[in-house]
Order: sequence, then C-alpha cells, then structure tokens
Amino acid sequence: MNRVYNFSAGPAMIPEEVLRQAQEEMLDWHGLGMSIMELGHRGPEFQAVLEQTEADLREVLAIPSNYHVLFVAGGASHQFSMVPLNLLSEHHKQADYLETGVWSHKAVVEAKRYGTINVAGQVITEADGIRRLPLQQELNLNPKAAYLHYTPNETVDGIEFHWVPQTGKVPLVADMTSSILSHPIQVSDYQLIYAGAQKNVGQAGITLVIVREDLVKEALAITPILYTYKAHVESKSCYNTPPTYAIYFSGLVLNWVKRQGGLKVIGERNHRKASKLYACIDQHRDFYVNKIAPDCRALMNVVFSLAREELTEEFLNQATQAGLANLRGHRAAGGCRASIYNAMPEEGVDCLVEFMKDFAQRNG
Ligand code: PMP
Repeated sequence: MNRVYNFSAGPAMIPEEVLRQAQEEMLDWHGLGMSIMELGHRGPEFQAVLEQTEADLREVLAIPSNYHVLFVAGGASHQFSMVPLNLLSEHHKQADYLETGVWSHKAVVEAKRYGTINVAGQVITEADGIRRLPLQQELNLNPKAAYLHYTPNETVDGIEFHWVPQTGKVPLVADMTSSILSHPIQVSDYQLIYAGAQKNVGQAGITLVIVREDLVKEALAITPILYTYKAHVESKSCYNTPPTYAIYFSGLVLNWVKRQGGLKVIGERNHRKASKLYACIDQHRDFYVNKIAPDCRALMNVVFSLAREELTEEFLNQATQAGLANLRGHRAAGGCRASIYNAMPEEGVDCLVEFMKDFAQRNG
C-alpha cells in the first residue's frame, strides 16, 4: 500500500491512525459482533457514542454550556438555508453578510431568498492586484440586522480573517467549514458556528452546528421541520436517523485531535506548515504567485499560480507522480491550491516545498 500526500480541499486527508482504527472496528465494534453502522440510532450503544462525541467536541473547543451542539445531516450548504430560515423572523428579515469569496457568495445568494441582505463588506483589490479583506472600520454594518454572517476562511480563494468582526449586539454567525479545529478559537465570540465535517472533522455527510441557546427560536413559517434548529435541539440530533457512521467517525478524529495535544499544538503545527509554504512561494516570486495580502493568507488553503501559466499542467502531473496529489485549484479559481488541513503531516508540506523549489529551478 502506498499512501500519498493528499492536498485535496475536501473531502480531505484523514489521519492514517484514524483510518486504521475505523478499519479494525469495522466488523466488530467493542465486542458486539456487529459494526457501529449496523446499530440502531436510539439504542444505548449509539447514544453513548453520540454523547461522547459531543463531549469531546465541547472539550476540544472549550464550548460554554449555554451553547447547543448539533450534528445535522447534509453539508455546510444546508446551513446557507438554515441560518436565515431560523434567525430571521416574520417581522424582521434584515441580515448582514460579508461576501469575501466563492462560499460566502453562495450563502448570500441563498439568504436573499428569505430576507433583505446587506453586503456589509467585500474583498478589496489594491492597485498592485493584491487582494485583502475589509478592515473593521470599512464594514458597513446595519445595527438592526438579525445577524452578521461571514466565512472566516474562504476555501477556494485562500483568504482568511485572522480577527473576529465586532458586531455589537448583532449575533455573529461563522461558516467555519474549512477552519474549524485548525487553531484555538473563543466560541463565545460567536453566537452560531457551523462547519461541514469533510475537512478537519471527518467524513462528508454531516455538519456541526454550535449555537447559543437564545438563538434557537421559532423559524420562519415556511421552514421544513428538519431545517429548524429547534427540532434538532429538542431531539438531541435524533429527530430522524442521523448519519450514525459519520458521527462515530468524527469521534475518532476528535480523539486523534486530543492525542495530538489539542488545538494549541495543532494550531502551532499548522502555522509552521503554512509559513513554510508561503515562504517558498515568496522566495520564488518570479515563478509562483500568490495575490493575497500577507495578513489575510489562509492557514488551511494555500492558493498559488505559476507565473508561466502554460507550466501548470506539467507542474500538476509531476507533483502527482511525486506522490503529491490533488494540487489543482478549484474550478472557479484555476491555478493550484494546497489544502493542508490537520491531517497533513509537516513532512507532507516539506516534500511539497522541496518539489516546488526543484520544479522552479528546473523550469526557471
Ligand atoms: N462553506 C465553505 C467555507 C466550504 O469550504 C464549503 C465546501 N468546500 C462549503 C461551505 C460547502 O460545503 P458542502 O459541500 O458540505 O455543502
């Protein structure tokens, strides 16, 4: 077996020891003579897994007790609908959105179906073509908004807020799909956090929602029951059959996070990984190009292009042959992207840096 360094943006690399544990437990989970995926979701065994997974997430992220943790079937895109459907009300349908890339744009498009959306901030392109996020004082916030939604890390664009927008009394909602568990955060800075699991939490098919108790209220009348946070809260994420295997698998990943030493250790490692890659790009600035302002560069998704675009296919082919897979940029962005989530070991980044230096030297 030859596992490669997989730089996919998601579904993404999983720690090998987690895959091995899942493999070992596949046929006979905890001596029951059956797989966890064969167990009923209301039985005591699966309920214990669900409770433990929630407890581990609470521990890893230090989630205060006045927040609910929900495991919602479906992707982060489902939250593009659930957030406005649940946080707007019949008499108050204004919300603020920061539109800073591909994913927050999609969130805006969906929210506009339910309310009046004010785009309170966008990416700014400077005269030299460098792209940066708006500063706090450049935000055009509506103090009457039901909430402000933003995407701390734009997975496709490789641009990340390294600070938390201040909204006064307006609840702050964050799509942390590609940044959750990448470094420590203060959960109380936000009123609602959601994240699709397929990057740093586990497998596709499930989304974590961390929501402060007081935000869970009656949703807009048109809301299907399964799209209401209330139904998920009241049923403890078991209104219907939840994706049991995906929940179990998230639990394995969370245990791996704990064994690594938690988010502080993981965050430091992630900073080292990203710094090495950006340093390589900057040292070869005639060859590799990244147009994101240094203080807005993403920790998890390093985007770059080749100054001589015609070399891109050759770069990607040779990288694949060298065991460095899935470096092609998103179809909307082109170029290259190295997604370096928690499961990407530092050695994987070192190999990529060596390959990039060598490729630049051979083709420069
Ligand atoms: N938001 C962000 C920041 C993402 O990176 C993604 C997926 N790459 C999504 C939303 C959409 O997630 P899903 O495909 O799970 O709906």
